[in-house]
Amino acid sequence: MTELAEYKMLIDGEWIAAEDGKSFNSLTPATGMPWATIPEATANDVDRAVKSAHQAFSVGPWSKATPTERGRYLRKLADLLAEKSEELGRVESIDTGKMLKETRWQAKYIAEFFYYYAGCADKVHGDTMPIDKSDMCVFTMREPLGVVAAVVPWNSQLFLVAVKIGPALAAGNTVVLKASEHASAAMLEFGKLIEEAGIPPGVVNIVTGHGDPCGRILTSHPLVQRISFTGGPDTAGHIIQNSKENFAEVSLELGGKSPFIVFDDADLESAVNGSVAGIFGASGQSCVAGSRLYLQDTIADKFLEAMVEQAKNIEIGDPLEDSTQMGPLATTAQLDRIEIEVDYAQEEGGKLLHGGKRPSNLGSGWYYEPTIIECADQSNRIVDTELFGPVLSVLRFRTEEEAINHANDTKHGLAAGVFSKNGARSLRVAKAVRAGIIWVNTYRVVSPIAEFGGFKGSGYGRESGFQAIYDYTRPKTIWVNTSEEPMSNPFTMR
Ligand code: NAD
Repeated sequence: MTELAEYKMLIDGEWIAAEDGKSFNSLTPATGMPWATIPEATANDVDRAVKSAHQAFSVGPWSKATPTERGRYLRKLADLLAEKSEELGRVESIDTGKMLKETRWQAKYIAEFFYYYAGCADKVHGDTMPIDKSDMCVFTMREPLGVVAAVVPWNSQLFLVAVKIGPALAAGNTVVLKASEHASAAMLEFGKLIEEAGIPPGVVNIVTGHGDPCGRILTSHPLVQRISFTGGPDTAGHIIQNSKENFAEVSLELGGKSPFIVFDDADLESAVNGSVAGIFGASGQSCVAGSRLYLQDTIADKFLEAMVEQAKNIEIGDPLEDSTQMGPLATTAQLDRIEIEVDYAQEEGGKLLHGGKRPSNLGSGWYYEPTIIECADQSNRIVDTELFGPVLSVLRFRTEEEAINHANDTKHGLAAGVFSKNGARSLRVAKAVRAGIIWVNTYRVVSPIAEFGGFKGSGYGRESGFQAIYDYTRPKTIWVNTSEEPMSNPFTMR
């Protein structure tokens, strides 16, 4: 048997095992076999991490670093990320089953987020007020919040770390990161770069373990001032409950069931490619997966023929191989759930156009075929259930109005795609669809410069973009009396 990689947590600048020595195995989705051990943090471990972050924030080196110096640390971190993208991508691929060609590219691009926030660090400022009182000078300063608890799911550990800690550190906060129990290794590898970049001990701590106790204790800790959460809606409910203990500000990036609307005047080849990338990229395990396809009836048959043809030719297999186009799912629980939902969709009248099963030739890995189901009706359960897998539901529409109504008939509101060569129509639809990100004639593109986040059940708060750094600060209003006169007697109003 091959030896398991043994990971440790980063607390107060030290690499440590759990206080009671407990750990759990991380399994690699390509085979379903254990490949690494991860510490199961105790309540004391989490407490130590938060206290260390609090110390670094309030009296330690981070409290003394100027914004420009913080920017320099982030730039160094970005350089290291770009340099080490191959190694980081490999670990993330082994741990999550995502394709190496995607994770290595992502690790490299993530450096751009740190460069961006490095540049933002010394451009955050308050305002002066044209106050309605004489002899008063009033202005605001933007101050960091304190300890940020950043809790992430497994599907994009490094990307999610970047969009959270980039603005948080740039603004002067310190952070305790909680890795997902399903894939913690890439984040712990990233922790080594924090050290190498010379970021002082306690500024970034990384704890590992399950949602309860590790995540619960972290997000309800009295010293935590801000919770930045990405994950599922049920956990988001717990996070809000936990924040009752510390009144921390909360941002939630939750799931989606994003509509992908194709009009009959669209470039069909481009729209098919966009839809394939939108739903089968990362094996559909993406919060912005374009998992609800709406096709104008006049082009639907032609579109589906091309889409099924592409789906048939997708190379499923080992995520470390460059020839692979779709890797496994990250957990067996997900695979089981997808099977149940795909069966149920067919019971509700859905027509299976492709896929719908595990491939027979890929051993014990957690693979599932790219699956396309033409639904009988918008009310079918699969149409508004996030599956987080390579499963596409399809419906036809006749008019623009019908497409918009279907797109908005959901509890989610993260993203949407619109394909049409008619610019006015694209813009009308983009304005009418209730979602935080609308891609027109493109899909699944992100940038450090563009805000990201959802409407409705997809959460609140925004990540990326300049505004995100303000969300990790709060204003302090300072009133200065510039008069030479003493303050008047409060009981004789003038
Ligand atoms: P999850 O909600 O199960 O877990 C997310 C994190 O929360 C994990 O680290 C987990 O340990 C922690 N957690 C669980 N219970 C907790 C508790 N009681 N208190 C504190 N922390 C707790 O999510 P998942 O299944 O790992 O990930 C999939 C979900 O994430 C999907 O819904 C997906 O759409 C969403 N997601 C959203 C975005 C986005 O940016 N909008 C990005 C990626 C994933």
